[in-house]
Amino acid sequence: MGKSGCSFILLELLLLQCLISLGQGYDFFYFVQQWPGSYCDTKRSCCYPTAGKPAANFTIHGLWPNYNNATYPSNCNKNSPYDGTKVSDLFSRLEVSWATLACPTNNGTKFWSHEWEKHGTCSESVLDQHSYFEATLNIKDKVNLLHILEAAGIRPDDNFYKVEDIKEAIKAGTGYDAAVECNSDPSRNGQLFQVYLCVDASAKDLIECPVLPKRKCKSSIQFPIF
Ligand code: 5GP
Ligand code: 5GP
Repeated sequence: MGKSGCSFILLELLLLQCLISLGQGYDFFYFVQQWPGSYCDTKRSCCYPTAGKPAANFTIHGLWPNYNNATYPSNCNKNSPYDGTKVSDLFSRLEVSWATLACPTNNGTKFWSHEWEKHGTCSESVLDQHSYFEATLNIKDKVNLLHILEAAGIRPDDNFYKVEDIKEAIKAGTGYDAAVECNSDPSRNGQLFQVYLCVDASAKDLIECPVLPKRKCKSSIQFPIF
């Protein structure tokens, strides 16, 4: 085959790749975890889920499809409402790892349906409802953030830590840069609230973030006891 035949095939492959990613409707995921101590330690406070106080560990906030240009799709399919019967085999894992802390106390259905309908429906071409929740739980099981931070001497003990040290520890433990989001306790101390890592479009592996979300923190933040 001549040179021009080769470049034609290459062009076709590129076009195919492009069409596949267009059909998929997003480029990568943010995998967002929350520290329950910081969700609860605010003026608004929190409510423990029906299953009781979650363990002192990071929990999942969501797996959010995102574009490389920092914008994101949301609420992509009104005709695909959350259906608990599709994920009932995952409930015990969801209750532990994707616990809800919003009030009033509930079993998590509201949180999971919100996350599915706002975010999950936007990656439905790749992950159906069961795969979406299962893949997110599997990522959570692979990335033990609390363990990673504790290995660097960063513990949920109400002490203050440098955000830079927290980011460095996560990089050392996962191999990837993370974004850290803070909120404030009633005395206006900045505290470690959420951690964003990036995951490839098939929701299998962590990747370097194509774009890190901009989130502000004070240089030294509290890691509250939960
Ligand atoms: P906030 O404005 O509190 O940062 O975000 C509110 C909600 O908007 C988040 O919980 C999430 O559902 C969505 N959101 C905020 N930033 C992003 C983002 O960068 N990517 C995606 N996919 N969703 C986001
Ligand atoms: P997002 O910020 O992802 O768009 O919205 C989160 C929604 O889920 C809010 O309506 C919030 O009240 C609800 N929610 C329920 N439980 C939790 C929780 O434990 N953490 C967070 N961040 N939101 C929760």
